[in-house]
Amino acid sequence: MFQQLNYASAGNDRPLDILAIAAHPDDVEQTCGGTLIRMAEMGYRTGVLDLTAGDMGTRGTPEIRIRESETAALKLQLAWRGNTHLPDARLENTISVRMSLAGEIRNLRPRVVILPYWEGRHPDHYRAGEIGYESCFLAGLRKLDDETEPHRPSKIIYSSMYANVTPSFVVDIASQFERRMEALFAYESQYGGAEQASDLFPQQGEIRDRLAGVARFYGNLIGVKYGEPFVVKEMLRVDDITAMGVRSL
Ligand SMILES: [Zn+2]
Repeated sequence: MFQQLNYASAGNDRPLDILAIAAHPDDVEQTCGGTLIRMAEMGYRTGVLDLTAGDMGTRGTPEIRIRESETAALKLQLAWRGNTHLPDARLENTISVRMSLAGEIRNLRPRVVILPYWEGRHPDHYRAGEIGYESCFLAGLRKLDDETEPHRPSKIIYSSMYANVTPSFVVDIASQFERRMEALFAYESQYGGAEQASDLFPQQGEIRDRLAGVARFYGNLIGVKYGEPFVVKEMLRVDDITAMGVRSL
């Protein structure tokens, strides 16, 4: 069921530090890809699990979207990327989906999981958040299956780029933003290559302006050029109030 694409040549059996779960290939490239690049640069093993291959998309085919997501994965410096090939645009939270995903979480053993925010325009997005959360819970149950060890991520954070909510925190992606754009434009079937530019494809310049505007807005909240917002359900703890980031005045 899972198409697993392993990019690191060695050590693929090591646990991931961070796993982002998303509905469609190209979602993380618009919402949390800068953070994933930044964490990879810090030495963490990062991965992405896309739940669908975009089979309902007007442009491209699942095969093309998967191939494009492999190119994007290299630009995001991912150690691992997989796709569960669930039905696009009609993603359902069923027990079999949750069991499959829980098994994958037990294999990958991420410490931190990034999910889409739990409300949004596209049902696949909020459903992916719900499926992800419930699968992380299931993954921690000892008696789920006999083959894999229980594992429960210690932290779940929600990517809230397109949710009209105040983020719990913002990650500075000023140095990663351009590479995140390159990762997004790896999806040529969706965003058109230079040779495909026509009225059918939104111009890359327009898309870049739009994403830069959103990232500038969140970056501005923490005093940097570009940022990615996240929401956590728990309170964030501060141990040293003299080391808090972002100036007050
Ligand atoms: Zn999407």
